[in-house]
Amino acid sequence: MAGYKQPCRYCGKLVHSDSNVCPFCARADPVGPLKCPKCRNTVEPGYKVCGHCGLSLQTTCPKCGKPTYLGSHCDACGDKLTVVCPNPRCKFEQIPTGPNCAKCGKPLK
Ligand SMILES: [Zn+2]
Ligand SMILES: [Zn+2]
Ligand SMILES: [Zn+2]
Ligand SMILES: [Zn+2]
Repeated sequence: MAGYKQPCRYCGKLVHSDSNVCPFCARADPVGPLKCPKCRNTVEPGYKVCGHCGLSLQTTCPKCGKPTYLGSHCDACGDKLTVVCPNPRCKFEQIPTGPNCAKCGKPLK
């Protein structure tokens, strides 16, 4: 239903139920089901891999070293898990779902 608001799962502020990113805390998928960052298939907290594309949904936070769900931010320390493509003509900010940029295909590191 259009205009319906739900609390963000991360910060608790009310956001539109169709938001892909919380406007308050900038985290991906603030409401509704979690989605695979690669294929957007619905996944559940606790899934180790996406049932659709097989992407590993668990990663290690480069900042705190703790295991976390592969989302836009670390579950443990809240630091960003997204990386910016090093290609100067792309600079696409993304959740690292593979060794290459999801947009231009250049290696991320
Ligand atoms: Zn939020
Ligand atoms: Zn997937
Ligand atoms: Zn962390
Ligand atoms: Zn790129």
